[in-house]
Amino acid sequence: MELQCPKCDHELVRSGELKRHCENCHSDFKLHVACNECGDEIERLKACGAVSFWCNNCNELKSKSSAVYTLQNG
Ligand SMILES: [Zn+2]
Ligand SMILES: [Zn+2]
Repeated sequence: MELQCPKCDHELVRSGELKRHCENCHSDFKLHVACNECGDEIERLKACGAVSFWCNNCNELKSKSSAVYTLQNG
């Protein structure tokens, strides 16, 4: 998944599991993953190498593609 820097539109590089870094303006971002239905933060689950997400509020499994990604400063 390619994300762009909200400040300069430069492509972000992965600097950690849920961290992204912009080499152009040297900003660090935290990736916030939310449920597409209720908007709550969802938990990342790793099973057999596949990544999926669990929403505690909806009480159901969410696919990677249905999750809503937002970037936060820091
Ligand atoms: Zn940038
Ligand atoms: Zn939910």
